[in-house]
Amino acid sequence: MIIVLKPHATQEEIDHVLEKIESFGFTPHVSRGVERTIIGVIGDERIIQEKPLEALPGVEQVLPVLKPYKLASREFNPQGSVIEVSGVRVGERKVVVIAGPCAVESRERLLQVAKEVKAAGAHLLRGGAFKPRTSPYSFQGLGAEGLRYLLEAKQETGLPIVTELMDTREADLVLEYADLIQIGARNMQNFRLLKEVGGHRKPVMLKRGMSATIKELLLAAEYIMSEGNYHVILCERGIRTFEDSTRNTLDLSAIPLIKQLSHLPVVVDPSHGTGKWDLVSPMALAAVAAGADGVMVEVHPRPEEALSDGPQALLPDLFAKMMESLRRVAEAVGRSL
Ligand code: PEP
Ligand code: MN
Repeated sequence: MIIVLKPHATQEEIDHVLEKIESFGFTPHVSRGVERTIIGVIGDERIIQEKPLEALPGVEQVLPVLKPYKLASREFNPQGSVIEVSGVRVGERKVVVIAGPCAVESRERLLQVAKEVKAAGAHLLRGGAFKPRTSPYSFQGLGAEGLRYLLEAKQETGLPIVTELMDTREADLVLEYADLIQIGARNMQNFRLLKEVGGHRKPVMLKRGMSATIKELLLAAEYIMSEGNYHVILCERGIRTFEDSTRNTLDLSAIPLIKQLSHLPVVVDPSHGTGKWDLVSPMALAAVAAGADGVMVEVHPRPEEALSDGPQALLPDLFAKMMESLRRVAEAVGRSL
């Protein structure tokens, strides 16, 4: 259920509505827009419907949300959410670029890539310290050591850090370093992990599972938000289809569709979405043209030596070229970079 308050509802009226909702045994979730405040009421819809919420002072309308996800639905924040990641705002006119290696491999390499992506105009630095690898024999990441290198790279470049959290047991450690916590495709439905990050107030980038529908992605976001953390960014990173000439099939239609269904910002990852470095730039441009709020790309100075995902990594100079084209596409669709 969503309670739309009148544009000039007073704080006293809002507090009174919140008190009432709590006294009925429901949990209120407040979304403060520029024009008006909206309150999401989570609980059994049949019982909520019986309560005289429409009669409360300051209330304009009470709407049932028919979709299974409520707080993630567009109705909860019709003008769209802006998620702030240590000063970088995601969801506004400006397109946000996240770049860096797949995994943190060494201090020197990370610092080098961080400086190069920063010089080319990236806004956030990515790098996995805990890596979800298909084979247990593949490089699993540097763990805590990798997080320390990320912090050093952040101090050198000023770029906030995006890094993956794979396990609730590492939550405290990863939260200490990450500016934006990545939940990977393989963990999109790890509900325990989603609730864990929902219990904090750090922004979360939730990647779409490789065989997840958009509805399942939005329900996964709902897990985080229903715990009180509304700072969620969604990431389209390609899904499994019958097509095997690319690593995944990048679902670009997910961007405008998610925009209709949800108020959450959408970032696109054309690196995992294609698995091929020469397809990354065209798909990044297409993502921005289709309305993405950001793109995330993997960059490596020597892709042939990369410990993970070398074939999809852009060389730093190609990344810089992509940024130039991205700027022009962004401007063509009324955005900026
Ligand atoms: C990644 O971004 O490094 C990653 C592992 O991506 P995904 O979870 O989308 O496979
Ligand atoms: Mn990768």
